[in-house]
Amino acid sequence: MCGIIGITSKNNIKFDLIKCLKNLEYRGYDSVGIYLNKLIKTKGRVSDLEKLIDDSINSSCGLGHSRWATHGIVNNVNAHPFISYNQKFVLVHNGIITNYLEIKENLLIKGYKFYSDTDSEVVCNLLDCYYLKYHDAFKSLKLTLNNLEGSYALGIINLDEPNKIYFAKKDSPLVIGKSSNFNFIVSDINSSYFLTNEFIILNDKEYGYLDSDNIHIYLKDKEILKNSITLNLDNKEITKDGFEHFMLKEIHEEPKVLKNILDKYTLNNKICLDPLFIKELINADEINILGCGTSYHAALIGKEIIEKITMKKVNVYLASEFSNVNLINYNSPFIFLSQSGETIDLKIAYNNIKNKDKIYTFTNVLTSSLAQLANKAFDLCSGIEIAVASTKAYISEVTLLIMIAYKMINKDEIFINEIYNCINSINKTLNTKESIYELATKIKDSTSLFFLGRGMDHLINLENSLKLKEVSYIHSEAFYGGELKHGSIALISKGINVIGLITNEKYLTLLSNIKEVESRHANVNLISTSNLNINSQYVIECNNELFTPIIVSPFFQLLSYYCAKLNNRDIDKPRNLAKSCTVE
Ligand code: GLU
Repeated sequence: MCGIIGITSKNNIKFDLIKCLKNLEYRGYDSVGIYLNKLIKTKGRVSDLEKLIDDSINSSCGLGHSRWATHGIVNNVNAHPFISYNQKFVLVHNGIITNYLEIKENLLIKGYKFYSDTDSEVVCNLLDCYYLKYHDAFKSLKLTLNNLEGSYALGIINLDEPNKIYFAKKDSPLVIGKSSNFNFIVSDINSSYFLTNEFIILNDKEYGYLDSDNIHIYLKDKEILKNSITLNLDNKEITKDGFEHFMLKEIHEEPKVLKNILDKYTLNNKICLDPLFIKELINADEINILGCGTSYHAALIGKEIIEKITMKKVNVYLASEFSNVNLINYNSPFIFLSQSGETIDLKIAYNNIKNKDKIYTFTNVLTSSLAQLANKAFDLCSGIEIAVASTKAYISEVTLLIMIAYKMINKDEIFINEIYNCINSINKTLNTKESIYELATKIKDSTSLFFLGRGMDHLINLENSLKLKEVSYIHSEAFYGGELKHGSIALISKGINVIGLITNEKYLTLLSNIKEVESRHANVNLISTSNLNINSQYVIECNNELFTPIIVSPFFQLLSYYCAKLNNRDIDKPRNLAKSCTVE
């Protein structure tokens, strides 16, 4: 969460810094700030900041930050960067310093004043305090880092050396970008691809400094040499490409994502997944899958399908609750699902699993921390996902888990053929957007909305409900049809909107549950994969029940999108959210 950029160059960097900050904004957008030759920060978006920047603001070295508040309300004062009490340092921070109160108390005794409520300003003043004593910024950085507990990606300028940027990383993302005339630190490679395609991936506890010519990286007091990597990024991916929103664009990319998966993981009608990985899954007693939010929902579907066709037991855990689980089979392999590869809850779970040889990460970002940490990382193949609400990465996660299941039973061809059918079906949905828009007009004013389903349809609905909440702010919940009468039906009253999902003959009993809510004057719309001759029914054709999550989910993603649009929501940057969750 939050975006950090720090550039040091031979030329003016104002425009590059702001452009990068715009690209980073999806990672946190409560407030925003820059330090060039002056400090400018404000509550709100980069567009609000731009109004405050005039021609007098210029520099060849500077810092930028887009915040997702953890400590201190969203206001101008709590926005980053911070300037230290004695005007020696400017700092931006991503993460949470868990012992900040203790440090703050000591600094208060020494006469330091604090203007914000953040944990980050404490780090800035601790640097300042050491600097007054030792007059050495690098030494001050090392001493400061020794005192910090929690997570951080830090960008720092010592005002006595205005062309140098100091940095440090622990449990929050940070990479270095290299170019001939400038170097920079950034929390997200994708946001800065327009500056360079050459990057150095930092690992936890590495720190150092850079100027426009040189980069120095340290670990445990020793300078280390790290190779850079060169990335080939598709220029198109970071633009909206003619679509009104990234979310809409990304839903439209789903057929391409499925094609990417086939291109990457299949050859001559065979699935080419690491044979050792597949063998390990086949030989394991059980398989563990961890994720949060949308990835957790993908994991639940993966469990359903893997168990159904391989008869192998799968345990799905919410990564954020992993430390509260009593019985975990640590001898079994772990699959981590994380779009960004930086999800802090997964990193914490990683630290709690002793045998790291059995951890596999499925992510969109192969340079991310979770990809680096894993025994092996697999590309989700969805490409950069900018909209905060995940759509295409969810489709990738579900597809890869289904692919694993088919590979485990050696039915590669069935999987491949069905994915081609999925591509056709999603294209059909994308071509019938009018009916989805029409449904959105019927439900957009709901104060509460309920999704009903049975079996796997309920699991699909969990994600449908989350997506609707995320982008349209309509309260919604997903219920198992058969569970309604055990309590939740008390919520049904005249005019409440209910969406039923039936993708399998086995789940036709949902029709009785629909009757139950209709009898209580609810408005019901039904989505199904065959025609059930019911009013207000939307049919999405699908012949293989195991692939329905891939086929029907785009319909619901579009439904959420249109509800958000009709309600004038900030679709790509919903309130209170941020793209990659890097704080606990
Ligand atoms: N903990 C810091 C704050 O609340 C940084 C949050 C962030 O990562 O954006 O300001």
